[in-house]
Amino acid sequence: MRAEVISVGTELLLGQTVDTNSAYIGTFLAELGVDHTHQQTVGDNFGRLVSALELALSRADIVITIGGLGPTQDDLTRDGIAAVLNDQLIRDEAIVEHLKNEYGRRGLKLVESQYRQADRPAGGQPIPNLNGTAPGLICTKESKYVIALPGPPREFIPMLEGQVREFILSLNPGPQLFSRTLRVAGIGEGTLCEILADLMEGTETTLSPYAKTGEVHLRASTKAASQKEADIRIDIVEQEVRSRIGDKLYAVGNESLEEWIVKELTKRKETVATAESCTGGLLAARITSVSGASKVIGSSFVTYSAEAKQELVGVKPESIAQFGTVSSEVAEELAIGARLQARATYGIGITGVAGSEPLDEPPAPKPSGLVYIGISTPAQTQVHTLHYRGSRELIRERAVVAALIELRNVLLATN
Ligand code: AMP
Ligand code: MG
Repeated sequence: MRAEVISVGTELLLGQTVDTNSAYIGTFLAELGVDHTHQQTVGDNFGRLVSALELALSRADIVITIGGLGPTQDDLTRDGIAAVLNDQLIRDEAIVEHLKNEYGRRGLKLVESQYRQADRPAGGQPIPNLNGTAPGLICTKESKYVIALPGPPREFIPMLEGQVREFILSLNPGPQLFSRTLRVAGIGEGTLCEILADLMEGTETTLSPYAKTGEVHLRASTKAASQKEADIRIDIVEQEVRSRIGDKLYAVGNESLEEWIVKELTKRKETVATAESCTGGLLAARITSVSGASKVIGSSFVTYSAEAKQELVGVKPESIAQFGTVSSEVAEELAIGARLQARATYGIGITGVAGSEPLDEPPAPKPSGLVYIGISTPAQTQVHTLHYRGSRELIRERAVVAALIELRNVLLATN
């Protein structure tokens, strides 16, 4: 069963709105076992929309349109669909009621143009919109289907996951695609692909790498008749990956590095504190983004200037004078200072050059992308030296991910 998606909206062609809905629907269709063979994007133009619909109906079994269902004159999807189906638009009284309720609830008066949202091709079935005004539509043409969905993602996604998923499954599209994400940190994509080369050539269960900043996600997928059948196959691949890379596979599914760390620290009743220079608090922000983080992080320090490094966490002026603010020695003292000041189990210190220009400081200039990460435990303090390339934003993000990975390594080693 083939599907084609048509995104409707001039704002998409002009790049003013990113077409996130068609990315979402790509994963959705693959999961349902529907072949997603083409995508089109058209502006708010009746003639071009009709041509797009005709082309899509000539080669797909299901055509899904996104957008153009609103009340304004440029919302033409309903009209375009009625035209290609040789159907006429009728006003649906049940939808009029829904619109009156929706606008009334928001304290707004329904004006004439908004009634257009209650129009539908006479043969079409409306899909109720629980998160907005314009309903979706399911229409049939011979043995083919046209499904129209609204553009705003908070309306589009619930409708797709609800009635549309149910409807497409009722058409028995074929074996569904089941996937599991294996999250890997601490091995580069190239090395990982070498270690897992034979598994990546698998046909029954495929394993594909997606490089993220500082980590790699492996997506294991298989087409199967049931979740159980898929789990059996994916379990085998997961076990094989684990036997080759051990605990570099840090989580399965959606768990992030920081979630893993917060969970682990909570379990051990331990805490962490950071003293951050070039990352300006981003590491503490990542950790505190996890719900329940208050159990494992009490205070942290943004020590951007040399004075702040001394005053807040007690970095020695001599160390700064002798080695510079971006140095292994200062990273070590930041980590120790954060740990002691916050009375935490672990301290992390980050100092580096995130800007595109070298940092000119005595005793010697430091190149852009040089980052030192100190990790202090009650037993010892280690410093990792990293050399990054890229934008300021990327260098800072990679430093944060590297710090999370190093903290995780410490936690694994002291388990
Ligand atoms: P429409 O239903 O065409 O009136 O679209 C309403 C709003 O939904 C637009 O202004 C966009 O902000 C958003 N939107 C429309 N299509 C998409 C899409 N394919 N992906 C993400 N957002 C969209
Ligand atoms: Mg539009």
